[in-house]
Amino acid sequence: MFRADDTIAALASPPGRGALALLRVSGPATRDLLAALFRAPAAVEPRRARLGELVHPHSGEVLDRAVVVFYEEPHSYTGEDLAEITVHAGPAVVEGALEALCDAGARPAEPGEFTWRAVANGKLDLTEAQAVADLAEARTAAARGEALRRLGGELSHRVNGLRERIVAARALAEASLEFQREVDVEEVLASTAAAERSARKLVASSRDRETLHRGLTVALAGPRNAGKSTLFNRLLGEDRAIVTPHPGTTTDRLEAPYLAGGFLFRLSDGAGLTARGGRGAVEREGIRRARAYLEEAALVIWLDDLTSPPPAEAPPVAPEKLIWAANKADLASHAGWGPADKSARFLRLSALTGEGVEVLTSALVSRARKAGGAAPEEGTLTLSARERRLLEEAGEGLARARDLIRARGIEELAAEELRLAAEALAKIVGEIGIEEIYGEIFSRFCIGK
Ligand code: GDP
Repeated sequence: MFRADDTIAALASPPGRGALALLRVSGPATRDLLAALFRAPAAVEPRRARLGELVHPHSGEVLDRAVVVFYEEPHSYTGEDLAEITVHAGPAVVEGALEALCDAGARPAEPGEFTWRAVANGKLDLTEAQAVADLAEARTAAARGEALRRLGGELSHRVNGLRERIVAARALAEASLEFQREVDVEEVLASTAAAERSARKLVASSRDRETLHRGLTVALAGPRNAGKSTLFNRLLGEDRAIVTPHPGTTTDRLEAPYLAGGFLFRLSDGAGLTARGGRGAVEREGIRRARAYLEEAALVIWLDDLTSPPPAEAPPVAPEKLIWAANKADLASHAGWGPADKSARFLRLSALTGEGVEVLTSALVSRARKAGGAAPEEGTLTLSARERRLLEEAGEGLARARDLIRARGIEELAAEELRLAAEALAKIVGEIGIEEIYGEIFSRFCIGK
């Protein structure tokens, strides 16, 4: 964990070729760093672009002509003194400038540290900080819409409203305990129970944020050589999976995002599941992983081969997850091909020619719609696993408080449950406890964000 009282520096623009690069510096020593590194005809003033020379603080060597904009705390992204230094994007310039900043006393920033500081200093709340990161990566209109509503404070608003009600109930409880004030126990009980219902309702009507942003997981499975890799490549329109005529080539899992009908899927190609006698250790491990993945996947495309003998039984996949397809429709089918169970429905397609593949795609899209991957309607929140866990924690604490009050009136223990429930909600917006979650959230941001 880092301290927040030192001064950090990082490249904020993407590394690589480009005309210009943006370096960011934030922390109490920002002014001193600029004094040591930046020579300009006019003095640095907040929010004014200054053109000058960037020099090494010890050798005085000129590193580049640069434009510096200084932001004085608290009026900056991080809430601290902050400078944005625009240099030319050559790697030697960028490296030289970063080195000079560090030689003058700055520390290289950790991933997401600028945004972490913004949250720590109350410039953004945690849900908004995540929305900023989501917007930078949104792949579907639904994901973009969700991030914008989050940035607009929808989740914070709902959580804070709930929190205020709990805090009010707790204030009444405290008044009774500490100052022996006469309070209406029924009132405290009613608002505790109402808060509990709201917390539970928020969770019950929410959608899964990870699914919206990362896509619904779709596993491709079926016997070896049925054409799974070929189908994977056909869907993605690129040669991601290695296709070979030798059975059992795909032993490890490949994953790729796949967009269809406005939905984001995470398509994965695993090892042949019905393969028997996989002798090699790598192959056995591949089969084990594919099985585990079938369990986890939201949907499974089970691919059989029309040129092989018909399967004796239906695919070993729960019917609500299964999309069953038989491949190589461009070749002559094996005599009598059809599943033993005549009522079973399957699609015929050819991964090689593309025939029938749109039908498969529409099946995927209609399943996604049913699985709740559609654009969330107004009022439906999307919650991350962490947010859901904290809301559930609050709901459970409120239920315990309610039972305690009902059984014994207002006592210390009930007041403590109310305090903890409010605290769980404060963690959602990042008002407390953001040190603990650095690894869970900010470390996934890029450096310079
Ligand atoms: P996997 O083991 O299930 O991943 O199967 P592959 O995608 O590696 O395919 C095995 C073999 O079947 C390769 O030689 C493919 O070119 C061939 N194949 C895949 N799909 C089709 C198809 O629709 N028609 C024909 N004729 N051959 C196919």
